[in-house]
Amino acid sequence: MLSLELPKHSTNQQTTAFNRILLVEDEELIRDMIVLALEGEGYQVVSAVDGRKALDLLQSPEITTGELNFDLMILDLMLPYVNGLDICRVLRHNGNTIPIIILSAKGSEEDRIAGLQIGADDYLSKPFSMGELIARCGAMIRRYRYGAVFPSSARQFGEITIFPQECRVLVRDQEVNLSPKEFKLLELFMSYPRRVWSREQLIEQIWEPDFLGDTKTVDVHVRWLREKLEQNPSQPEYLITVRGFGYRFG
Ligand code: CA
Repeated sequence: MLSLELPKHSTNQQTTAFNRILLVEDEELIRDMIVLALEGEGYQVVSAVDGRKALDLLQSPEITTGELNFDLMILDLMLPYVNGLDICRVLRHNGNTIPIIILSAKGSEEDRIAGLQIGADDYLSKPFSMGELIARCGAMIRRYRYGAVFPSSARQFGEITIFPQECRVLVRDQEVNLSPKEFKLLELFMSYPRRVWSREQLIEQIWEPDFLGDTKTVDVHVRWLREKLEQNPSQPEYLITVRGFGYRFG
């Protein structure tokens, strides 16, 4: 069940007929449960028990020759030898676009943000339901194969998720409509959580170089964004005023 043996003469037809998932998880119990559930759904699952084995596998000659390929990787973050974030970073740095779903212990929001920022596509907190994992795997594979050519660089922070390539924003699971400027502003904020921006810096980043308005324009746009994002716009949780400096996100 956990072997790395692969069919010796896999043809192209076979590789496309089965969706093959690489599972990187060091906890045996969780690994076995996931393998069982995914195999039950008709996936082929190859497991790696630590970060080094995962990277070895992803850089194996079978991968480079195209004899072996994965449709998706499920990646635990806390792993022996090489952790999940580093695996993700190495892959994206090398131009590998395999869709990645990160699994991690509950509460590590910073890991989740870091993971999404360095190119993971989705994130599930442990403990998760097997049904949800299976649903997300299916959605990810469909989206990757038949939808977007590139993996989505969705970013999530708290209850806000932004999909830059699709120009979409979800707030508490509801789609919200943002003007192009509001969208650009939110995208910038979410790319650098907790970074403090002065109004002048925001104008420089978001508005045209020949912008003639003043910094109050920024305040107005922040107010509009707050009305769309915050549960209580007068006591914002996301778009925070930093007195004497400007604004930060988170
Ligand atoms: Ca682990």
